Amino acid sequence: MIGRIHESEAALSDLARRDSLTLLLNRRAFDEEIADARAREQRFGERFALLAIDLDRFKLINDTWGHGCGDDVLRAVARTLAAELRPFDRLFRLGGEEFVVLVPRSDLGAAMQLAERLRSAVASRPVALGDATVPTTVSIGVTTSDPARDAGELLAIADAALYRAKDAGRNRVEASAPART
Ligand code: GH3
Ligand code: MG
Ligand code: MG
Repeated sequence: MIGRIHESEAALSDLARRDSLTLLLNRRAFDEEIADARAREQRFGERFALLAIDLDRFKLINDTWGHGCGDDVLRAVARTLAAELRPFDRLFRLGGEEFVVLVPRSDLGAAMQLAERLRSAVASRPVALGDATVPTTVSIGVTTSDPARDAGELLAIADAALYRAKDAGRNRVEASAPART
């Protein structure tokens, strides 16, 4: 009986950390895991990287195909991203058409390579919707951890790089700043 209660508590707590549309980890899970990553950085000096990922022109996909098809595209892109990651990389849907990857023990060069792989995987896999295929791309902003910055600041830095990728034409990867490693 006690075992069953523990099992259902674990199942509930897992549900609370999942996004119901894509079944990816959600914002709450991200907040917990970036706090852990920052603690490991302070204790062991392990740098990590963040990739802020946003679907390009997603509103147009909804407007053209309908919200239900937009949901299908979100699920398909979530699967494509998840399939490219290595076992320790953590993928979250923060909300809407915005995803984040938390990359443990990474520097900017390795994180940029991963981001480029994700960008290219999404771009090369148009999403099948019935008889049609919908071309989909993402823009990605990359940053590395910095013990002087809290989780919100790191996300804002990755987002600023993401918005530079949007401004530069979308379907691109940009780093937070050339001088940081
Ligand atoms: P940009 O390239 O600048 O990112 O353009 P965008 O159209 O992707 O960006 P914008 O922020 O204008 O639009 C995002 C859209 O995502 C608007 C919103 O309706 C849609 N959206 C957010 N969450 C969901 C969802 O769960 N399902 C569906 N189908 N659409 C969603
Ligand atoms: Mg967005
Ligand atoms: Mg978008």
